Amino acid sequence: MTITTRFAPSPTGTLHVGNIRTALHNWLWAHKYGGRFLLRIDDTDAERSREAFVAAIRTDLAWLGLMADGETRQSARFPLYEARFEALRDAGRVYPAYETAQELDLKRKVLLGRGLPPVYDRAALALTDADRAALEAEGRRPHWRFRLDHDAPIGWHDLIRGDQRFDPRTMSDPVIRRADGSWLYMLPSAIDDVDMGITHVVRGEDHVSNTAAQIQMFEALGTTPPAFAHEALLVGSEGKLSKRLGSLGVEAFREAGYEPAAIAALLARIGTSQPVEPIADIRLLAAGFDFGHFGRAPARFDEAELAQLNARIVHQLDHEAVADRLPAGIDAAGWEAIRPNLATVREAADWWQVVEGPVEAPAFSAEDAAFLDAAADAAAALDWSADPWRALTESLKAMTGRKGKALFLPLRQALTGRDHGPDMAALLPLIGRERAIERLRLTV
Ligand code: GLU
Repeated sequence: MTITTRFAPSPTGTLHVGNIRTALHNWLWAHKYGGRFLLRIDDTDAERSREAFVAAIRTDLAWLGLMADGETRQSARFPLYEARFEALRDAGRVYPAYETAQELDLKRKVLLGRGLPPVYDRAALALTDADRAALEAEGRRPHWRFRLDHDAPIGWHDLIRGDQRFDPRTMSDPVIRRADGSWLYMLPSAIDDVDMGITHVVRGEDHVSNTAAQIQMFEALGTTPPAFAHEALLVGSEGKLSKRLGSLGVEAFREAGYEPAAIAALLARIGTSQPVEPIADIRLLAAGFDFGHFGRAPARFDEAELAQLNARIVHQLDHEAVADRLPAGIDAAGWEAIRPNLATVREAADWWQVVEGPVEAPAFSAEDAAFLDAAADAAAALDWSADPWRALTESLKAMTGRKGKALFLPLRQALTGRDHGPDMAALLPLIGRERAIERLRLTV
């Protein structure tokens, strides 16, 4: 059995961090077992679906490194749904119902008013052929419901939530098709999961009650249901489902300079018992990924944590991984010198500016200025082929008796225009002899 998962977004918007997390978990689970990760565009809702969103979903997944091993879209599969629908109708598992939205609403209110659960009363099942003919003669068109088997208790072992039990008698027969013939989410999704050979359905816990009904749909379609993992939802650091999270997606992540690897490392681990670690290789994340680590409490997404993780991931990236995003001139040695100081790859440009100059040093005291002048002489006399920073500071130490901050800080300030930054031993060779002498000399 090839482990096969799918990510099934509706193209009614761009992906947000919650969807990205679901996509990632599906990808990780499939890749952990050398399986397949499929993209399914759930575009049965023609009115709200947009081609531009389909394209954006593909681009975002590619940027995140979550390439799909195949793609399908529901709008191309209507004949299949029609065929399965007809078979289920002939078998008595789907039935026409004629209540209007207002009628259904009234029924619900009456039940709730009596303190009863608002379960559909199946009045449509009691209609005779003559009743239906009369309703149709009035111009009513039916919507269609899936008839749950009340004698078949529903249960599954959820990979995250453990044993789940539902009594179908407490559930409404789900509407699967509207009066205009359009499809609701439930049945096409189950048909596709069968047809695509999905072995694991990984999605948010907001789908748990859908799953209960879909379990019976799988059975009515003559197959065993796939395995399910329903994850707790994502909330913001303040513990709520915020509006911000709903709009936070790849575009915002890119703009902030976050690496796809940092996003994956964070989203793979929040809400689980495993620590968030700067794991840059997504294959390693996949190897350690397990639904057994997931908790039932919502996963907290904290952008500050992402920023921190991003820096730790950037510190691991080799030159090859970032070369095409660096300003021309930063070679492997340059990258390694600068890297430990970066929160994002983009910031490399700022440090490269420091290397190439011009830099603006602060005003120095007369004493420091004299010291820097001596430093310029020392720099001119140095052998620059080995470790010029060490040679420079050693000779200045011997010459002036300065040490510690008094020795290092004015040099750093004159050479870089800043008080802090990358290791000077790595930086000075990049600045080079000419520029270094010039910067030390300029301060007199
Ligand atoms: N299109 C559905 C959604 O976005 C898919 C749910 C599922 O994974 O089955 O909620």
